[in-house]
Amino acid sequence: MRDSYDYLIVGAGLSGLVLAERLGSLGRSSLVVERRDHIGGNCHDRKDRNGLFYHVYGPHYFRTNSELVRTYLSRFTAWQDAKYRVNVFAGGTYWSFPINLGTFRQFSRNAAATEDDFKAYIARSALPIPSPANSKEAILAAVGPELYEFFYRGYTEKQWGRPAEALDASVCRRIPIHTGLDERYFKDEFQALPRDGYDAMFEALVEASGAEVLLGTDYRDVLPRVRYRHLIYTGPLDEYFGSRFGPLPYRTARYALEELGAEQVPTGFAQPVLQVNYPGPEAFTRTVELKHVTGQSSACSNLVREFPAEYRPGESDPNYPVPGPESDTLAAKYRDLAEREPGVTFIGRLAQYRYLNMDQVVGAALHTFEKLRDVRG
Ligand SMILES: Cc1cc2nc3c(=O)[nH]c(=O)nc-3n(C[C@H](O)[C@H](O)[C@H](O)COP(=O)(O)OP(=O)(O)OC[C@H]3O[C@@H](n4cnc5c(N)ncnc54)[C@H](O)[C@@H]3O)c2cc1C
Repeated sequence: MRDSYDYLIVGAGLSGLVLAERLGSLGRSSLVVERRDHIGGNCHDRKDRNGLFYHVYGPHYFRTNSELVRTYLSRFTAWQDAKYRVNVFAGGTYWSFPINLGTFRQFSRNAAATEDDFKAYIARSALPIPSPANSKEAILAAVGPELYEFFYRGYTEKQWGRPAEALDASVCRRIPIHTGLDERYFKDEFQALPRDGYDAMFEALVEASGAEVLLGTDYRDVLPRVRYRHLIYTGPLDEYFGSRFGPLPYRTARYALEELGAEQVPTGFAQPVLQVNYPGPEAFTRTVELKHVTGQSSACSNLVREFPAEYRPGESDPNYPVPGPESDTLAAKYRDLAEREPGVTFIGRLAQYRYLNMDQVVGAALHTFEKLRDVRG
């Protein structure tokens, strides 16, 4: 470690490493400090004992409509096209999901039901709520109580540890509803995974950046030993300010890997599609079998089971910001401080306290780079 750099970058996730690479391309030096023992932040992936990929912090399905983001990342990885398919398992049956005409046919036990039948059902069932105030109202207004109870209520409560009526309408609205046979979860033009995994992509970013990366270190521990011109902070927003207004709420999860030998998966797969959601009494919310989309060929497989949990600082990793009126007010107070903090750029899903997909994070980092390139010192 030198004693001075142009930038001290806190966090070796997508935000931190894209900025390190871009700033490195101008010949500027960065020290990237990461408290985990690996790069890649939440996108980090590994191979299990059978050589099959799994996502350590929950599944990361890359997709984007941004040509800029795709072209930029394609400099650091080749891609494996991926169709991200999801089912729900409930009442002993796999259901097509997100809700579409196929789901309606299963639900109404009428294999011949048409799109018009489904639209007529929605017109009869959906509640007249012109401006839904929360996630429960959003779904009641979209499809009505029957489908809400079956597909949304239990899952949302488990996932967020609070009822759907306590969550912003945007949370459940993120899940599309199709009246035709479209089963796609995402509509983005480009849907693919880095062919050799996220970690290989992050290693290529680090190499191109010329940055020094310090793992297993909290940035506060290096502050007394290093000088820098500008700080780029991608950690939790409240933590930067010592949580002086109180902690921002997050939801987190534990991910349990099951490595499956050939004898456990006679068909080569443990479940029919990439992701299966469990809205019922099980303690977990979903199981993910990544082999469906990695293009890897093997007689073995693996499953990652997701157990949602309350976030406790120091004990677990913050995953999802919890959108709602109280957290919005609190986050606004921290954002106000952040705007007035000299010499520091706050960027990324934790530092902005916003649910941001990977492509949004890359887009924001490229945009921030354009602002930083004109500023020295
Ligand atoms: C469960 C889950 C599933 C997701 N699935 C998808 C998906 O399918 N598709 C998609 O597009 N997006 C998905 N995302 C979003 C995606 O993870 C983010 O967009 C992306 O990882 C954000 O990158 P980041 O660099 O901003 O944050 P992070 O990846 O969180 O990186 C921040 C880094 O900063 C480090 N850090 C924090 N504080 C300190 C400190 N004091 N000192 C040193 N280091 C510190 C952290 O350890 C972390 O590694 C998902 C997110 C979660 C939580």
